[in-house]
Amino acid sequence: MAMRFSILGSGSSGNAALLVTEGARILIDAGFSARKLEQLLATVGESLARIDAIFLTHEHGDHAAGIEGLKKFPQLRIFANPATARAIQAKLDPAHKPEWQLFETGARFRFLDLEIESFAVPHDAHDPVGFRFTAGQENDLFSPRRSLVFLTDLGHAPQHICEHLRACDIVVVEANHCPELLKADNKRPWATKQPNLSRQSAMASHLSHAPLARL
Ligand SMILES: [Zn+2]
Repeated sequence: MAMRFSILGSGSSGNAALLVTEGARILIDAGFSARKLEQLLATVGESLARIDAIFLTHEHGDHAAGIEGLKKFPQLRIFANPATARAIQAKLDPAHKPEWQLFETGARFRFLDLEIESFAVPHDAHDPVGFRFTAGQENDLFSPRRSLVFLTDLGHAPQHICEHLRACDIVVVEANHCPELLKADNKRPWATKQPNLSRQSAMASHLSHAPLARL
């Protein structure tokens, strides 16, 4: 087993995913309460006490709201870039100071048996990132080398992101709306729809289904 991956939850009410390798169990984002995360992990036979670390893509509540409640799990290492960590820390109880594991966007680093690469993605947050996680050994029958790229909340897919997708085995991309359906939706005000429909805008906040064909 080189990698096992599960989406625990995805959507505006919360986001979290689980990645398990031979030597590491990590969450990517923690947008649910600790109690809800525990319930979601139980559905895939895991628990918070067994998780080694959380990797945060950005500070929005639907990706990071669970950090406050996770102080009961001091074994959890919390990885984020400095701008994301600062934005989350500012909203925490002042007495709660997680031991942040800070990385610079673009840096490559290791954690347990994982090699991690982070890269900037376009989204209306302080310093949002995507991740590439690699584990396993070349030519190992039982634990082959595998890479997973995780992309969430990006407004469009610039070329440098497409480069990161070369030679990876698994790509996880959040694409949460269909442009035609969104335009036809009379219930949502234009101000809500426009950021997602404007592909070139720096404010574009979520990918539609359409660019997936280009990736
Ligand atoms: Zn977001």
